[in-house]
Amino acid sequence: MRILIVEDEIHLAEAIVQILNKNNYTVDAVHDGEAGLDNASTGIYDLIILDIMLPKMDGITILKKIRNQGIKTPVMLLTARGEISDKVIGLDSGADDYLPKPFATEELLARIRAMLRRNSEVLVDGNLKFGDIELNTSILMLIRGDKQVKLTLKESELLEFLMMRKSMASSKELIIEKIWGFDSEVEHNHVEVYISFLRKKLAFVNSEVTINTVRGIGYVLGVKE
Ligand code: CA
Repeated sequence: MRILIVEDEIHLAEAIVQILNKNNYTVDAVHDGEAGLDNASTGIYDLIILDIMLPKMDGITILKKIRNQGIKTPVMLLTARGEISDKVIGLDSGADDYLPKPFATEELLARIRAMLRRNSEVLVDGNLKFGDIELNTSILMLIRGDKQVKLTLKESELLEFLMMRKSMASSKELIIEKIWGFDSEVEHNHVEVYISFLRKKLAFVNSEVTINTVRGIGYVLGVKE
């Protein structure tokens, strides 16, 4: 899961990044409204945590703009004490939740889990399912029946992404953007290497799930006949 944080209080932003990294989320943080809008507009995030009062452009404006672009990424607004009217404006502008500052770490994590669950139809008992496999992204475990194998964080993120895409093929470019980020120097053969790791692990648990190569397009999950 990839989360964007737009928060101009650098210490708070860094604290949130640390908490989320520890909980196996991939996080990008930016500190002003324009950068927030640029990042949010890419549509690659599973969740956006958006402060309201920001330099260059406020959070409500960002929210309205991305909703106008048709981006449906769930948004959690961070509201300072007493910004009651902002809360109302926020929910009216298409925010999915808001969290008053200051907040407890556990509350932030619980709200994030709830929002991500709401957004994903394929989550069952906290696990993602496809064919005969389940993926537990919090303990990075690929499960088929009574067999299971530990994944690395990147393997788990890649498999999760392919599972969420269901029957839609994913290009290597899209996979790199989503899993490694825009600024990464990752090359196409890097994706191939991770795909081959995942294929080995799927074979290890005797899964019927395959990662099919769609020539000229990319990869898509399938189920053996
Ligand atoms: Ca602020």
